[in-house]
This record gives sequence, structure tokens and C-alpha cells, in this order.
Amino acid sequence: MREESRPRRSSVPSRLHRLRRGDRTELWTEAVGSLPPVYGERWKEVGGLLCRSFDPSRSKLAAAIAHDWSGDLPRIGERWLYLGAASGTTASHVADLVGPSGRVYAVEKSLRPFARLYQLSERWPNLLPVLADARTPEDYADLVPPVEGLYADIAQPDQIEIVRRNAALYLRAEGRPVLIALKTASIGRNRPPAAFLALAEKALDPVVELESSVRLDPFHRAHYFVGGRVRRTLFPAEAGSPVSSTPARRPGARRR
Ligand code: SAM
Repeated sequence: MREESRPRRSSVPSRLHRLRRGDRTELWTEAVGSLPPVYGERWKEVGGLLCRSFDPSRSKLAAAIAHDWSGDLPRIGERWLYLGAASGTTASHVADLVGPSGRVYAVEKSLRPFARLYQLSERWPNLLPVLADARTPEDYADLVPPVEGLYADIAQPDQIEIVRRNAALYLRAEGRPVLIALKTASIGRNRPPAAFLALAEKALDPVVELESSVRLDPFHRAHYFVGGRVRRTLFPAEAGSPVSSTPARRPGARRR
């Protein structure tokens, strides 16, 4: 018999809900935005809350949660910088997790997905699209304030270096989380995926206190979810800081 539970409540309030369906657990996020669906996901009312299915085969973050990722997740009220937002599939769920009082600054450099992300942001009020190249993070310092977390899914060979530079500029404080969806094929194909994971972890370890990485198969082949909390060593010794601690110039401003 199929059974469905009400949203689970834990001591830390969360907008992520795990629903038991027979022997499976489904993930749902409480929607901040409005219909229609963003990418074909299901919507339904769960315990009086309007929720969206969070599918591990469509989102690497959902796949990591399905694989019991033990690290931090975006929490209610936080500001997150999201690198490689594409048209907003996962970014919209991160926006759901931080809720209406949080913000997701969603960086995407390709015009076509950005156009869809921009449209989505019109009905997802806490999702703020930024058209920019994440390789030059100083370019969006007037749009993005210091944030409480960094999510990266940019599938580039130099993704770890891009993450390091963005984290140093925008995270600002030891202990804040960095989450990376690592596509090993973007780094190379001349070694097994686990060897590229080891290289990525080695590059991150001096500046991030790493959680156990999780492999995202079978949902995403040869992808890993990597991350942890930034160490003090990420930040240069001198106190000078290139990002203002005041709010961004105009919340929701778009880079042109
Ligand atoms: N995170 C998305 C999701 O789960 O819905 C999928 C992201 S897709 C794998 C990678 C995205 O990163 C592409 O849309 C690509 O254009 C973008 N990207 C790649 N290099 C980038 C860069 N240097 N700056 C910003 N975006 C970049």
C-alpha cells in the first residue's frame, strides 16, 4: 500500500521535505515562486504547503541529498551565490530552500539559458539573475553582497579555481559552506573519475574543511558532490576586503 507522510519537522526549520512513498523517499521543496512548473516538475499541496518535486535525476543537489550528503544545505533566510545557474532548474530549488527572506544570486554566462533564467526570476522573487562570467567574480561585486553559502555547477576544467576565487570574495567568513557539483569529464577523460575527484579534493583541502564527497551515479554519471566549510586560510592575511558589506546596489539588478 502506498503511504504518504506529512512534511517532516526537525529542530531546524527547513523547506525541504522528505515524503515516504512505499519503500521510496521523495524530495520536495516549498515553492517560493508560482506556476507553471520550471522544468516539468510536479507541484502539489503537502500538509497545507505548496511544494515542488525535487528530482535527483534532474538536479545534482537533489541527487546528493538522496545519497545522504552529510554537509550543509541552504537554510532559511540565507543569501547564496550560485555559479552556473543555467535556466534555473536547481537554482529555483535553492531559492525555495532559503525561502522568501533569503536570496539566491544566480550567475550564468550563456545568453540562451540566461534569458530563461531572467524570465523565471520574474515569478521567483528571491532569485536574482546575474549575466556574468564566474571567472571574473569582481565584475559582479556591485550586484552581489557577501553571502552565507556558495553553490557551483559550472562544468569547467578550472572549476575549483573559479570556486576558490568566488568564495574568497563573497563568503567572507570562516565556516561558511561551499557546495560543488563536480563533473569529472569536464576536467579530463584520461583518468578514472575517482582520480579527478582526488585532484579536486587535494586542491580544495587547504581552504575547505571537506565533508565526505558523494558519487552521484546513477542519477548523474561520473559526477561527485564535493564541499564543506571554508577555512580561515581562504582569506588573505590583510583585512582589506574588495566586496562591500553593505547590501548590493539594487536587489534584483541585472547585469547587462
Ligand atoms: N546548475 C544547473 C542546474 O542544476 O540546473 C546546471 C548547470 S550546467 C551543468 C553548467 C552551466 O554553467 C551552463 O549553463 C554554463 O553556461 C554555465 N557556465 C559555464 N562556465 C561558466 C562561467 N565561467 N561563468 C558562468 N557560468 C558558466
